Amino acid sequence: MTISVEGDLTFRDVVRERSGEDIHSCFYCQKCTAGCPTAFVMDYAPAQLLRMIQLGQREAVLSSTAPWLCVGCETCGTRCPNHIRLAPMMDVLRQMALEEGYVADPAAYALHRSFLSSIKRWGRVHELTMLMEYKTRCLLAESSLFFRGLGSDLMMGKDLVLKGKLAFIPERVKRLDEVRKLYAEAGEGNK
Ligand code: SF4
Ligand code: SF4
Repeated sequence: MTISVEGDLTFRDVVRERSGEDIHSCFYCQKCTAGCPTAFVMDYAPAQLLRMIQLGQREAVLSSTAPWLCVGCETCGTRCPNHIRLAPMMDVLRQMALEEGYVADPAAYALHRSFLSSIKRWGRVHELTMLMEYKTRCLLAESSLFFRGLGSDLMMGKDLVLKGKLAFIPERVKRLDEVRKLYAEAGEGNK
C-alpha cells in the first residue's frame, strides 16, 4: 500500500483544503456524534475521526470504515456549534482512501458503486437491478460478502414484492442525458 506525499501540506491541512470545512476549529463537544444516525456502526465516531485528523493519524483515518458508513445526512453540520459539516469531509476521506488504495469496507464500497451506477443508467435508483449489481460486486470482491445478510435480504425482498414496492421493470427519467452530463463533468467512471 502506497502512502502518497502531498507537497508540504500536512494531512489535516489537505483534508481542510479539499473539503472546504474548517476542521481545525473543532473543540470536540461531540454533538455531531450524538446526532449521527450511523455512528453506532462506525469503528470511529465522527468526532473521534475528526480529532484523529487533527492529530494527523492519516493511515488510521483512511483505513477507517466511518467514511464509508456516513450517509451524508448533514445532521452533524446542523448540530455543530462551529458549523463544521462532516459530510463533505467524509466525501474527501473516501476519495483519498481510494486514491491511496484503502477500501476499509468492501461491501459499503460495492453499495456506493452500485447506487451510482443505477442513477447513471436510469436517472434514478432501480432497486432490483441495483441490488443484483451490489451482490455481484460483493461476490467479486470477497465471496463471503455475497452471503452476508443474504437471508434477511431475501425476506425483505419478498415483503417488498408482495407489497408492490419493488418494480421489476426499470424506468428511465426523461432527461437522462442531463444526469449523464453531470457524471461526465465529475469525471465519474463506472468502476
Ligand atoms: S459538533 Fe462540531 S465542534 Fe463538536 S465535536 Fe463535532 S465537529 Fe467538533
Ligand atoms: S453526515 Fe455522515 S457523519 Fe454527519 S451525521 Fe450524517 S451520517 Fe453522520
